[in-house]
Amino acid sequence: MGRRFAVPFWTMAIINCPHCNQRISSLKEICPHCEAPVAAPLSREDAERIAARQRRERSYRAGNLSYLGLVMLVVGSLWWWFDGDAGWMIPPPVGASTFLLLGMALYILARGYMIWLQVSQKRPRSGR
Ligand SMILES: [Zn+2]
Repeated sequence: MGRRFAVPFWTMAIINCPHCNQRISSLKEICPHCEAPVAAPLSREDAERIAARQRRERSYRAGNLSYLGLVMLVVGSLWWWFDGDAGWMIPPPVGASTFLLLGMALYILARGYMIWLQVSQKRPRSGR
């Protein structure tokens, strides 16, 4: 197992150092925090499995954030509509525009991150 091979970044997983419990890359042989050797370096298959699970968890959390963004968009729209008595006045009330802008930013960022996760996952393996 002494041979080194180029490991593509998407097979990298974040594990906890068995000595100091800090989060480190599974590719490290020496913990950068406490400099203890990481007892059992993960095999490539294990690292890929853990990395895939972490991608799913990140994607799930990003999905939740994008729903939160949608809810904020709806809240902002309703606030805008019901503030005053003439529907969607220009400019919208400050509170409503804050909700709309934050919700939109949250939704776009979360969806973009999910797309990025999928794209980086589908990239072909190197060396084969
Ligand atoms: Zn450590």
